[in-house]
Order: sequence, then C-alpha cells, then structure tokens
Amino acid sequence: MDHTLRFAVLQGDGIGPEVVPVAVDAAVAVLAEHGVRAQPEVLPFGSSAIDSDGAPLPERTLSALDTHDLWVVGPHDSASYPAELRYPPPGAVLRSRGGLYANLRPARADVNIPALAPDIDVLIVRENSEGLYADRNMAVGSGEFMPTPDVAMAVGVITRAATERIAVRAFDAAEQRRRHVTIVHKANVLRLTTGLFRDVCLEVAQRYPDVTVDQQHVDAMAALLVRRPADFDVIVTENLFGDVLSDLAAELSGSLGLAASINCSDDTVMAQAVHGAAPDIAGRGVADPIAMVGSVALALDWYGRRYGDDRVRAAACELDAAVAATVAAGIATPDLGGTATTAEFAERLRQH
Ligand code: ATP
Repeated sequence: MDHTLRFAVLQGDGIGPEVVPVAVDAAVAVLAEHGVRAQPEVLPFGSSAIDSDGAPLPERTLSALDTHDLWVVGPHDSASYPAELRYPPPGAVLRSRGGLYANLRPARADVNIPALAPDIDVLIVRENSEGLYADRNMAVGSGEFMPTPDVAMAVGVITRAATERIAVRAFDAAEQRRRHVTIVHKANVLRLTTGLFRDVCLEVAQRYPDVTVDQQHVDAMAALLVRRPADFDVIVTENLFGDVLSDLAAELSGSLGLAASINCSDDTVMAQAVHGAAPDIAGRGVADPIAMVGSVALALDWYGRRYGDDRVRAAACELDAAVAATVAAGIATPDLGGTATTAEFAERLRQH
C-alpha cells in the first residue's frame, strides 16, 4: 500500500506536549521499519489553542480531523480554561465528531513493574456515547438540572441500539482473547436502564456460543477485580461504570501512568491515554509516556485490523515490545519508582 498514514496530533495541556510527541515519534519510526510511511500533523488543541485561536478546540482543528487516518490526542485541562470556554468539554466534542461510541481500556500487569494484581489482564469495553454520564445524552444542555439550589438531577440514558453495538465490540474482542465476557450493570437498582443494558448484552451473547458469558453488579465487580482479577477477561459496561472500573484496573496493573486507551467508531480511531493533564508534574520532564505510547499502539492495531494492513498491526506489536524491553532494562520514570526523565525513556525506547 502506498497510502501515507496521516496522524492528527492534538497535544493538549499539562504533560500532553511532553508525552504525545514521544508516542508519535516512536510510532512513525516503527511504521517506517515495516515499510509504512506516516505523516503527523500537529493541530491546535487545549490552552495553547485558546491563545492562538480563541478556543480550546478550534474549528480548523475539527475540520482537519476528517482528512486524517488516526487521531492522537493528549489530555485537556478544561478546569484551567476561562469559564466561558469550559463547555462543551473538548473530549465530548471529539467523541461526537468521530461518533466514537466505544472506549477500549486494557489493563495488563508487566512482570517488570510492581503491581497490586500481577495476574490482571482485562479489557474494559466501555460504552462511550450515553449511560449515566448525563452530558452525553443531550443535543442541547448538560443533562444536569437544578430546580432549586438544593436539588440536583441528572439524566441517564440507555438505548438498545447503543448497547447492541458496544456488546458486539466486546464479544468480537473476546473472540481474539480468552473468550470470556462479563456484563457489568446494576440492574437490581437501576432496573430499567442498566437492566436493558444487561438484557441486550445477553441477547448479543447468543450469537457467540463459543464465548463464556457471566454478569456482575458494578459494586461486586469492583471487589472481585481486587480479589480475583485473573478470573476476568473482557468486561462490557456502561459509561460511568466503565470509567470507574478502568481506573481501578489501571491501578491494579501498576499505575494510571501506564493505562492506554482508544476511543473508536466502526471507521475512526482516537488514541488517548486514560490519565489527565497531571498539572502537578507538568513541565518537569518526568511524565511517564507509557500510557500514551500504548494508546498509539492500540490505535495502530485497531487500524491494521480494520483496514486489513498487517504491517500496521506488526508495528503496533513492536511498539508494545519496545516499551516492555525498555521497562525490562530498568528504565522507569518516577511514578514507577525510577529516576528516568521522559526524554531518557524516549531515547531508550528508540533503541529497542
Ligand atoms: P482528569 O480528571 O483530567 O482525568 P485527574 O484529576 O484524574 O485528571 P491526572 O491528571 O490523571 O488526574 O493525575 C492524577 C495523578 O496521576 C497525578 O498525581 C499525576 O501526576 C499522576 N499522573 C497522571 N498521568 C501521569 C503520567 N503519565 N506520568 C506520571 N504521573 C502521572
């Protein structure tokens, strides 16, 4: 294929400009080794875009996204923006622009990184477009209401269509893994909403007779992930539950600084690490780039599978292997107890 892989690079705030370039440079290098040309283009995003364009996610960035194959997006720190620019959150705009209904968050321990759960290896498949996060459910407004200063309400939405498509994602992923899906809900209390989520997932399960399926209430799931993490493979759940469980799984596997993630539709993928802008360490050159590199590797794997390019999938594998080899060589940033800077980690990554 002569196609040049075009990356839209949105570095974002805080540690974004420190970790995103590490991931992009590493990806471009491994793709080149596999005969794939890649061309990153940095687009304005975050507080620097407020300075240059007057908005954290300018229209010129949004329209440029359509011409790129992969989106690589750093964290945004909306809380630091002027009040009138905090809404809508840039993440929400990006998700709806790409129709990115699935958020895939793997958590797997690495033998060379101390982990609370050394045997954890799960993939959390989080519905990303509705659920109990009220802001996703509205064409206009935030989905939260305050009828009086002392009463606040939020809208939760579960639909058959959105649940079915995320369930298909989860079961398809399970077929590539250990063929086990756990449906997570709270149908004993949120009977209609998360009950519908559970029921539709169980219907989809009928199409995958070779995949074992079980279900847990979200509170029990949190306890079981700590008690016996090795018993779980793919976890499919609604938006809010998935967000909480994926931070838990990330910490069990080592650190939030390791947690990779992609947001995707059927055609578009966005690499974005689970962590935020980490303003407490931003600018000190010590941010851990592993989560961002891992996110780009996930996006390449997704792209290679979706568009049938084995070279891109091989590059994704190699990127993961390079991170593992760098860590195995004892190179670690302070969040993992090491002394390496982001630049030193990046340099060693290049050598693997
Ligand atoms: P958000 O709400 O935007 O997701 P947050 O408030 O949950 O952000 P983070 O910005 O993710 O928080 O930071 C949480 C803690 O984890 C901070 O102490 C931060 O320094 C640390 N942290 C996050 N990402 C990294 C990283 N890549 N490397 C090292 N430490 C990190």
